[in-house]
Amino acid sequence: MNYYSLNRQSPVVSFREAAIKGQAPDKGLYFPETLPSVDKELIENIEQFSNEEIALRVIRPYVGDCIPENELQRIVSETVSFPVPLVKVTEDMYSLELFHGPTLAFKDTGARFMSRCLGYFLRNETKKVTVLVATSGDTGGAVASGFYGVEGVEVVILYPSGKVSPVQEKQLTTLGKNIRALEVNGSFDDCQRLVKQAFADEELNRQLFLTSANSINVARWLPQQFYYFFAWKQWPHREAPPVIAVPSGNFGNICAGILAARTGLPVNHFIAACNVNDIASHYLSTGELKPKQAVSTLSNAMDVGHPSNFVRILELFGYDELKDFLSAATITDEETLQTIGSVYNQYGYLCDPHGAVGFLALQRYLESHPGQRGWVAETAHPVKFPEAVEKVTGKPIEWPEAVKDLVGRPKNSVEMEPEYDALRTWLLSQI
Ligand SMILES: *Cc1c(COP(=O)(O)O)cnc(C)c1O
Repeated sequence: MNYYSLNRQSPVVSFREAAIKGQAPDKGLYFPETLPSVDKELIENIEQFSNEEIALRVIRPYVGDCIPENELQRIVSETVSFPVPLVKVTEDMYSLELFHGPTLAFKDTGARFMSRCLGYFLRNETKKVTVLVATSGDTGGAVASGFYGVEGVEVVILYPSGKVSPVQEKQLTTLGKNIRALEVNGSFDDCQRLVKQAFADEELNRQLFLTSANSINVARWLPQQFYYFFAWKQWPHREAPPVIAVPSGNFGNICAGILAARTGLPVNHFIAACNVNDIASHYLSTGELKPKQAVSTLSNAMDVGHPSNFVRILELFGYDELKDFLSAATITDEETLQTIGSVYNQYGYLCDPHGAVGFLALQRYLESHPGQRGWVAETAHPVKFPEAVEKVTGKPIEWPEAVKDLVGRPKNSVEMEPEYDALRTWLLSQI
């Protein structure tokens, strides 16, 4: 399988090259040249397959011969090594809990797969690779955990000081080994700007082998299809494919689901559940894609004004076709808090702010489409966003077992002013 750039100015590349490069030289996103069809047998008899078998079947055509079968099997099995339960919340609404991975967010799946692919591709490199990543919270933790201990790879994470939640900060700063955290005295935008400057710095790139672990990377995007199949395996209403609501920011997650559907997974409808950063709603009602300056919300992993993966959705569907298959919802912070409360009080289910955006979006859709049912991609554990959740429930959330051992671990970060020279000097001092 080869990948072309959506800007169509760069040559096609293999999966290997697309995964190492991240973005095409013309700044376009890579996209598979052909779309494979998923076996009918897999769809019809999915409960007879293990998660590992499902994932291997789904990803195999996208990887082609870049990774031998036994290695790919190992990578897949390490990627899907945690449960992804579909939990019934009401008669019509289910929650696909994507937060049972090591960092309690859906990004674990993509980060684990990508880190292991890179580890394999770079196994014979003599020069160390430095993965440089800016995070507003969840990405950094998933990338840190995914790459932890991977030979030949150093990870440097920039995060805005004081602007990530306590669990998130622990996940970024306590691993050690090949993971380093830079605590930037500024905003997430500052972190992102610094990282972009580093990638554009030719002199620096001659000295360091820099790569990104950004969500546009095909090795992070494509494995996110796995759990849409795992949900189908657990879906109790086979005769009626689900409506799926996905809390969306950069649209990588929902775009993976749409790809799965495009290649054979039964889905009735997708809802891009957004906070007030809702350029998808605007696009679907007007046909015009108009990036906006992002504003801060309670579901801050979705505070994206220019969702990078949206162009991939447009490559999968024309506007008219897309309008029937995808809708978008805009949910305010006030509605998010109300929904955390109502889902908790009425159904005894505690969701995080991102999941709450999804629940309200799904609920509204089902009200206007009676007789249908669906599920929400619950993208993070509520403990990662305790402020909003505790405000509603009035009591502290317990840290789940998976992160309890983080509590006592000492934080290890390098404080840094939001200036490029500071980052550059520090990076060079690490070679
Ligand atoms: C990253 C993230 C999202 C947004 O996912 P996209 O793939 O960027 O649309 C939603 N919820 C949580 C908790 C996240 O961490």
